[in-house]
Amino acid sequence: MICISTRGAAPPVSFRQALLAGLAPDGGLYVPQALPRFGEPRWAELRGSSLAELGAAMLGSLVGDEIAAGDLRALLADALNFPVPVVRLDEQLAVVELFHGPTFAFKDVGARVLARLMSHVHDAGQPPLTVLVATSGDTGGAVAQAFHGVPRTRVVVLYPHGQVSAVQEAQFTTLGGNVTAVAVQGAFDDCQRLAKQAFADPALRDRAHLTSANSISLGRLLPQMIYYAHAVLQLDPGARPVITVPSGNFGNLAAGLMAQRMGAPIARFVAATTVNDTVPRYLASGRVEPRPSVATLANAMDVGDPSNLERIRWMFGDDVDAIRAVVSASVHTDDDVRRGIRELDARFGYVADPHTAIAYLGAVEDRGAAGAGAPGRLFLSTAHPAKFGNVVEPIIGRPVAVPAPLVEAMARPRQVTHIEPHLAALAALL
Ligand SMILES: *Cc1c(COP(=O)(O)O)cnc(C)c1O
Repeated sequence: MICISTRGAAPPVSFRQALLAGLAPDGGLYVPQALPRFGEPRWAELRGSSLAELGAAMLGSLVGDEIAAGDLRALLADALNFPVPVVRLDEQLAVVELFHGPTFAFKDVGARVLARLMSHVHDAGQPPLTVLVATSGDTGGAVAQAFHGVPRTRVVVLYPHGQVSAVQEAQFTTLGGNVTAVAVQGAFDDCQRLAKQAFADPALRDRAHLTSANSISLGRLLPQMIYYAHAVLQLDPGARPVITVPSGNFGNLAAGLMAQRMGAPIARFVAATTVNDTVPRYLASGRVEPRPSVATLANAMDVGDPSNLERIRWMFGDDVDAIRAVVSASVHTDDDVRRGIRELDARFGYVADPHTAIAYLGAVEDRGAAGAGAPGRLFLSTAHPAKFGNVVEPIIGRPVAVPAPLVEAMARPRQVTHIEPHLAALAALL
């Protein structure tokens, strides 16, 4: 597979190189130069496939002989060891639940596949790859869980001491093994500065085999195509649904557009956002005008300058009309979110977190023609409601059951290394 930079000023690289590099040297994001297209007979053949089988077919056609087919299937089966059910709400509407992974949020899909891809391409006999991540709470858990127990890798999570929630802290301080949790005496900004300083130090980077696992990584993006295809192949043959994506950094939507380009039967997309609406404003005006983000109830979507918009514009040759033909947008306030949670519960007895509620509202508001075949509208659910019990419970007026693994993590002992916010302290530990 040939990967090129969205900015066109970096040499093309292999998938393996793009995987370990993260950002391209010209500051752009890596994208596959071309996407293979499966015809209808191929999709018909793939009906009923597991996530791993479908993923092996889709990613295998991209990466070619860079990863042996059997290895790819095995690592996908190991990564995607949880269901992604399509739950029908009525004749027209269904929700795709992406939150059944270990941290109960959809980022598990991309992060778990990325971890195993990185482990696979990192030579045996070398010291382990060190994934360094600075977190204000959620990313640390998803990345730590994704790499936990994966051979030839270790994770170092930097977090601000005393400034993450108890549940978040439990998700990365109780794993042990190849996961090291480091409480930094300082704020999140100190953690991020330390990580940047470590990556910028060539000697340290080489010695510790440092790499990152952030959301711009192509190895996190491509696996997200799989659940789009998996979901639409569960609908009636001939169905071409409209899919609503609750969007922040727009990696999820970019992956959906790639799945559609590979021929997956999807009519079009609705990008549903919080009031951090840079992409909806871009679709309306044709101008990209990022703004500082504001905090909302759907905090994982509070992004003022979504990095994956660059990939989407690249895919469409920077032609906003071409993007408008397949993506419409909807913007929702916190009051809308509360209404959405209440309505989903009242109409369908379905308990949703704030991010999922935004996807629901976008699906309901979308005035365009739904795709043929029932159900014509799918929306993506990106987090388990128990992760946002403080928001959801007062609205629905009853407790949300907390999944057993979250309860168990809370009860396990914490293992934490404390450091002062200086590179020397971090370097000693690496
Ligand atoms: C990250 C995240 C999103 C946004 O996904 P993007 O790919 O950044 O658009 C939505 N919901 C939840 C729960 C998330 O964690």
